[in-house]
Amino acid sequence: MTEDHFMEPLRAPTGTHDLMPGASARWVALLGVFASLAEQSGFGLIHTPLFEDVRLFRRGVGTETEVVGKEMYEFTDRGGRAMALRPEGTASVVRAFIQHHPIPPFRAWYATPTFRYERPQAGRYRQHHQVGVEVLGVADADVDVEVLALATDYLQGLGLSGYTLRLNSLGDGACRPQYVAALREYLTTNKSSLCDEHQEKISLNPLRILDCKDARCKAVAVGAPTMNEALCDDCAEHFARVREGLDAQNIAYFLDAKLVRGLDYYTRTTFEVTLDLGEGELTILGGGRYDGLVEVLGGAPTPGIGFGSGIERVLLACDQQGVFEVEPKTPLAYIVDTTDGSHARDIVAMLRKQGLFVERAYANRSMKSQFKTADRSGARFALVVGDREAANGTVTIRDLRGGGDQVVVPRDTLFSSLQELVAKN
Ligand SMILES: [Zn+2]
Ligand SMILES: [Zn+2]
Repeated sequence: MTEDHFMEPLRAPTGTHDLMPGASARWVALLGVFASLAEQSGFGLIHTPLFEDVRLFRRGVGTETEVVGKEMYEFTDRGGRAMALRPEGTASVVRAFIQHHPIPPFRAWYATPTFRYERPQAGRYRQHHQVGVEVLGVADADVDVEVLALATDYLQGLGLSGYTLRLNSLGDGACRPQYVAALREYLTTNKSSLCDEHQEKISLNPLRILDCKDARCKAVAVGAPTMNEALCDDCAEHFARVREGLDAQNIAYFLDAKLVRGLDYYTRTTFEVTLDLGEGELTILGGGRYDGLVEVLGGAPTPGIGFGSGIERVLLACDQQGVFEVEPKTPLAYIVDTTDGSHARDIVAMLRKQGLFVERAYANRSMKSQFKTADRSGARFALVVGDREAANGTVTIRDLRGGGDQVVVPRDTLFSSLQELVAKN
């Protein structure tokens, strides 16, 4: 190491952030909400490597996508293998499914960092975090409804409201090619009205143009034929069943014919949840069917569906709506030991074994300083052991919120005495 390394203070890399204890209480709570909803719907936690063979994401996400084309963290490891840090959640789960061939239906949920080398800006990080689910092996439209219900239950569980669930069907191999051909014809007719980039690129991926943010493309998109009108009977029936299921559960949605995903393996149901934050729409969740993906990654044809949702973005939305405010946990009791600290040591061990959150002071500090820390900790009670209590085998319980009421109890019954005091008010 050269001296330079010691000149600049070390900091988290650009575009990343530290999640510190205290602030993380909200993350713990969010993961708790998501995990319990997912588990009760039959999903199990999956954990796959953060880095994979780069070909997985090139094939599974697509080289024409911005995330793989321009933003992926790629590196060569010491063995000369081309690797990449995970840019999104689905490809790795599908790779694991193919590798371990579990019996379908396969249901997995995840909470993971994802990595994108993009220009840092508010709400966008080079390492950000997602929760998500995937179901593999079921084409039944009722599964789409279950997945959508889980998505909205999650957002509601955090207290979010006023968001829009956008829904579309992208068809399948039987009906989409004709649609894409019709769309290409329409766009070619209106070519001179498109944005500069898309005047060049109609033939490559006409669906992308429907998603273009440029005002000129948006204007052309208004009159474009929609996939919905072009669905084959099977796809139309599937989509009708999805909508019927959403209606039956009173899950509101908006049919958005412009909601597209450019790659062939995305099929049928596709969705996004957006929220209007005043300064533009924020997408807080997105997903859909990918009945062609398993095959693209080398497995037997297997239908799949899932969604991912950015944790930082969802919490940003919670901030805006003033919901899901989670206070850091405070200890029930703080032990003030003015002897030599051994009583604090033993009482902490005893009460923690009994399941209580308790704290103590260290290094024989003065009684005054220990009480000050006890107050600052937010603890409800101070458990005081001085020379007298030590000699009698007692503890003085002082209520730090109740104007300093105190009671002396035998140390053996400390746990039940605390329980009684808590139960009282
Ligand atoms: Zn465009
Ligand atoms: Zn179809």
